[in-house]
Amino acid sequence: MSPTIHAIFTAGIIMSSIPSSFGADTRQDSVASRAHQFVEEHEATVRPLEKAVSLAWWSANITGNDADFKTKEDAQNRLDAALADPARFARLRDVRAAARAAKDLDPILRREIEVLYLQYLEKQVDPALLQGMTARANAVEKAFNVYRARVEGKELSDSEVRKVLKESKSSDLRRKVWESSKGVGAVVEADLKALVLLRNEAARKLGFKDYHAMMLELNEQRQDQVLKLFDELDQLTRGPFRRLKAEIDVKLAADFGLAPSELRPWHYPDPFFQESPAIYAIDLDAPYAQADILGLAKRFYSGIGLGVDDVLARSDLYEKSGKSPHAFCTDIDREGDVRVLANIVPNERWMSTLLHELGHAVYSSKNIPRSLPYALRAEAHILTTEGIAMLFERFSMSGGWLEKNGVRVDDVRAFDDAGSKMRRNRLLIFAAWCQVMLRFEKGMYEDPSQDLNKLWWDLVEKYQLIRRPDGRNAPDYASKIHIVSAPAYYHNYLMGQLFASQVHETLSRDVLHADPAAALYDGRPEVGKYLQEKVFAPGRSLPWNELTRFATGAELNANAFAAELKN
Ligand SMILES: [Zn+2]
Repeated sequence: MSPTIHAIFTAGIIMSSIPSSFGADTRQDSVASRAHQFVEEHEATVRPLEKAVSLAWWSANITGNDADFKTKEDAQNRLDAALADPARFARLRDVRAAARAAKDLDPILRREIEVLYLQYLEKQVDPALLQGMTARANAVEKAFNVYRARVEGKELSDSEVRKVLKESKSSDLRRKVWESSKGVGAVVEADLKALVLLRNEAARKLGFKDYHAMMLELNEQRQDQVLKLFDELDQLTRGPFRRLKAEIDVKLAADFGLAPSELRPWHYPDPFFQESPAIYAIDLDAPYAQADILGLAKRFYSGIGLGVDDVLARSDLYEKSGKSPHAFCTDIDREGDVRVLANIVPNERWMSTLLHELGHAVYSSKNIPRSLPYALRAEAHILTTEGIAMLFERFSMSGGWLEKNGVRVDDVRAFDDAGSKMRRNRLLIFAAWCQVMLRFEKGMYEDPSQDLNKLWWDLVEKYQLIRRPDGRNAPDYASKIHIVSAPAYYHNYLMGQLFASQVHETLSRDVLHADPAAALYDGRPEVGKYLQEKVFAPGRSLPWNELTRFATGAELNANAFAAELKN
């Protein structure tokens, strides 16, 4: 389906296709008319509630006020209640069944109904079960908030734990800090296990085999499909990861005066080995210390024909008290009111983060055609918008990119060399970690009664190549908060990276006629044109893998990603 076709299916035309009196094909017409009526009702009731949630979310994160957080919670509850309405869902289910059977139905209308069906289905959980799930999840999240590691009588904050794991040269101290940081797992284990059972029960009541399978299907993914992709990725990256891991271990073992075989989980730079240790002597922050981060981002995006001045004018970009310390991008109304929350300081991480958030901003209703109906005027999938954001964030470690943008770098070649190694290492380490998360969550929901402590460490040993601590039997998996608060979600980050690599390869080859390893986008408006036509224009009218094929000529696969990580 080409984006020019979408321009024809405006809401107005769909409306005008509804007959005023029933003609020859009454059944067909009545499906279209019922579908259209449902969409109209959805837009009249749910659309203002969604906008209210976005605005309240924005204010709460800017001010940090209790009152604003209360407003946000109330707005979310009103939206959830509208989507949970059983009578409306029953009607939607009927319309969807009819729409699936009706051959000649406008494909855009059919797709709208499908997208809305999945959105409502997620909220059809038995209210008593939902209450139980919320209570357990809150209990776990609260326990995470108040838990502090404690070593030799001293409490350590999360950032203090990370500082020890980044900097300390004492194996003994590292072990104590690491073990104590995992203590939260034992605190939340019982609540988490109860939560898993409730989630599975809710999923089974909606007709799914377990909660993990349900979460994927609500996001139009299948377990076997995602697993196949992860197997393929494992095969392609296992060799490079093994070599990198050996290189890291030699360096760490020397630092700690140990043999590589004596390294344990606490010798790595963070509690889960998600990040790369600093094994190259280069300061990535140095060129950014005096740089105008905002100006660089502005110029870059306008140079590729995707200017963001209007987004930045509505954004909140610098630190202030009460404000969320993180970063996000939000599309308030699907009418072009797109904003970024950030806390810019002049270093590499914030250059990368700003490029990332503005990547979300350009892939939004700002560039998705207004001719698409409201329900489809959004990114195809969470993985495709993460992918576009990741595509742009990668430039912050490129010496060539800095040079093109007039930022002084002492030794561009050395910066480029270290930057591309660091980028590669981060991706390899992150990919191995995502393998553990995907496979653990799948296994945990499939059979919650199995020995989960063992499952966790079996996977860590197999994919991250980290030796489990001798004689330890503890629920270390339960110390990862995402298992509670962002369940069955992590794999999308890695699929987003695959999407970024695949789009970059296509862009380099077909649009820039350049080697993907060296291609820069600066001052090339054809980059923006390609993204607009091939990635943004279809909005949500195509499922994620069809969009990937439309944009790159192939379904999502690990080849481009693995090719980048080969050396
Ligand atoms: Zn993102």
